[in-house]
Amino acid sequence: MQTHPRATPPGPERALATEAVHAGREDLADLGVHAVPLDLSTTYPSHDSRGEAARIDAFAATGAQPDGPPVYGRLDNPTTARFETALARLEGTEAAVAFASGMAALSACLLVRSAEGLRHVVAVRPLYGCSDHLLTGGLLGTEVTWTDPAGIADAIRPDTGLVMVETPANPTLAEIDLRAVAHSCGTVPLLADNTFATPVLQRPAAAGARIVLHSATKYLGGHGDVLGGVVACDEEFARKLRQVRFATGGVLHPLAGYLLLRGLSTLPVRMRAASATAAELAARLAADPRVGAVHYPRIGGAMIAFEVRGDPHAVIGAVRLVTPAVSLGSVDSLIQHPASISHRIVGAEDRHRGGIGDRLLRMSVGLEDVEDLWHDLDAALAAATRDVAPDPRAATDGRRTAGQVSAGGS
Ligand SMILES: *Cc1c(COP(=O)(O)O)cnc(C)c1O
Repeated sequence: MQTHPRATPPGPERALATEAVHAGREDLADLGVHAVPLDLSTTYPSHDSRGEAARIDAFAATGAQPDGPPVYGRLDNPTTARFETALARLEGTEAAVAFASGMAALSACLLVRSAEGLRHVVAVRPLYGCSDHLLTGGLLGTEVTWTDPAGIADAIRPDTGLVMVETPANPTLAEIDLRAVAHSCGTVPLLADNTFATPVLQRPAAAGARIVLHSATKYLGGHGDVLGGVVACDEEFARKLRQVRFATGGVLHPLAGYLLLRGLSTLPVRMRAASATAAELAARLAADPRVGAVHYPRIGGAMIAFEVRGDPHAVIGAVRLVTPAVSLGSVDSLIQHPASISHRIVGAEDRHRGGIGDRLLRMSVGLEDVEDLWHDLDAALAAATRDVAPDPRAATDGRRTAGQVSAGGS
């Protein structure tokens, strides 16, 4: 009989690096296997229809992860459940619920709240472009009030269902004090998108965020070959998410669940290695007269945002080692122009208000050698600034080190 790995680990709490490798896999030795079983079943045969009826009733009533053999792939999958168990352990939450993509995960969070009549969302810009678009466009019947962190308490209304922030934010890497924001939220749940930091750098639940969202497509998968999303939260909210997921069908494919669980096992080493390279590149960019503001988060990470003095499109056109592509968090470095791609769907005025300038480039630093990456960036910057007169201030106040780069994002 298939069972789900337990949500609570045996024995004392273990370090993140250990959990990354072992969480969700505790039963493997007893099963007599080393790799996680990949269960691709869409349905599960059973001669016990009374038992299945009882499991369906229990799920409909509570949204608790069904006990016993699974019934149907949209309700329950043992491989995906292992990934959920592991991610919850890494984020330090009671539960996690996986979805087909980050946007499916965010949609489910919004649907849970609006089904309770709480259609209003308070949010801080910038957010990932499609998250901004989903809220601004009101596609799910929600209404948004944009504010800065200091304005959250005043923006909350009786029908506010969520407060949403990203930190570090996509694409400016603006940082938010999660503890302070969680305090301003009062009883309204704070949803923190932790895609950029990952639990390796920051655990928003410990700072008071009730809902932690990931585009698992990025660092959790880590190899640019899986789309997925996941919400880490308390069991009460997870139950509602599972019911929405069952009803609306945004489930994660089991193969994606398998690959995401495998991705988690190398997440700490990938994050540490890529962050060290990113910090070095950010420092070199900050000292480069061809570059204006450089944004690199105080908490570190593998993302860099910087403004070029020349043509940003020419940089994208000139890179040879770095992949010119949207998305992030893969083993190879990626660069893109947010105003053209990741945040194109956000209106130009809103983009500018969120600190997303037309010369801003966003780079996701991978696991390549730092000198090879710098060589490529250096050549691309040279191509982009060939026809641009040097800024006379560049040699003095244009120089900034990564450590001085502000968290304000503008
Ligand atoms: C990519 C991304 C999303 C959306 O995730 P998908 O998996 O592409 O649906 C949400 N938030 C952030 C911060 C992202 O970078």
